[in-house]
Amino acid sequence: MSPRPTNHTLSKVLGDLEAFLRNFRPFAVADRMRVAWVAHRPNAPASAGAGSFRSIAKGASGHVVEELRIRLAGFGGVLPGALFDDSLEKAVQQFEQDVMKRDPTGIVDKTFAERLDQFAKDWPIHFEKQLKCGCGKCKGFGEGRFKGEYSRKNSKLEMYHKYEYPGIHRSLLWACRAIMHYCAEKYKEEIRFSVFSSGYRCHTDNGKHMSKNKAGVKVPRTTTNHMGKAVDLAFETCVGSVWKGNGLDSVTRYKSCNKVRDLAVEKMKASISWATAGEFGLEPGGPTPSPKSKPSGCVAPTWVHMDVREWQAKHLDDKFFVQSQASLDGDSMVVVGSDSTARPQPSELHFFDSATTAKHPG
Ligand SMILES: [Zn+2]
Repeated sequence: MSPRPTNHTLSKVLGDLEAFLRNFRPFAVADRMRVAWVAHRPNAPASAGAGSFRSIAKGASGHVVEELRIRLAGFGGVLPGALFDDSLEKAVQQFEQDVMKRDPTGIVDKTFAERLDQFAKDWPIHFEKQLKCGCGKCKGFGEGRFKGEYSRKNSKLEMYHKYEYPGIHRSLLWACRAIMHYCAEKYKEEIRFSVFSSGYRCHTDNGKHMSKNKAGVKVPRTTTNHMGKAVDLAFETCVGSVWKGNGLDSVTRYKSCNKVRDLAVEKMKASISWATAGEFGLEPGGPTPSPKSKPSGCVAPTWVHMDVREWQAKHLDDKFFVQSQASLDGDSMVVVGSDSTARPQPSELHFFDSATTAKHPG
């Protein structure tokens, strides 16, 4: 048993504690760690002065990274998050190569941010005429009904989630911009984006769309994908020198849509028939049909349907859903990057805080 502390020992301990607290400045400590981290960061360009754009690379985190992960969703299928990880680095490199036409560096500098801002301007998204719900009752993006309620008993699958999300997912619409871009690049003289043929469809709108079920009974539409998680894109095909959409025969339209689907699979790792969790989902087109019939299993013959139905709940938070182009675009990337609050994650702090190379557990 250890001896009871004397009054003298106690007063010494209290004195030490008081001195420690007097000198304890957590923000100064955190700042020293941050500087050490920036210095150790791979590929870290020199910091710009206050008020100007601050370049970032792998290892960074914070609001600027959150915005990059949404705006670059169409480049490799990056999911929302706050960390500049391998997937975001690849997306940055893909954007550099395919849009900026520069050698990939993985660094988001001011030129990159400016090009990303221009990318948004190149591909405007028309909420008012193309994406708002047409039911005539809601204001365009549902009424926020049925959060946490599912159309099937004992199922928490997102495909049965009845929630009317408060807008359309930003990552989805930014990814559509990538589709528009890649289509214009690869099929410049052949296929081009035309309009969103279907955007938001609330429960009231579902009730207005009746179709016969297998028993021949008329029932309302029940799917909930279009309650913020899905859009349908329509394309035009150039025949001769004339661009045509609806006026074209269905087989030509079908072939064009399959080419666009292939692009989405290649460039943003979209998966046809929702095959993989955490990826953009595409309704299947299937093999080219005869002029009179579509093949079995085909859901989207003459349009391209893309959704985020297979994403985890944390990637479908209300904050990702928007109702206007201004909210979709957010502040310009140059402004966001100039206000950068990029900070290392706690695990990285641990790593760079120590002179040792011991691995951080977990
Ligand atoms: Zn509606």
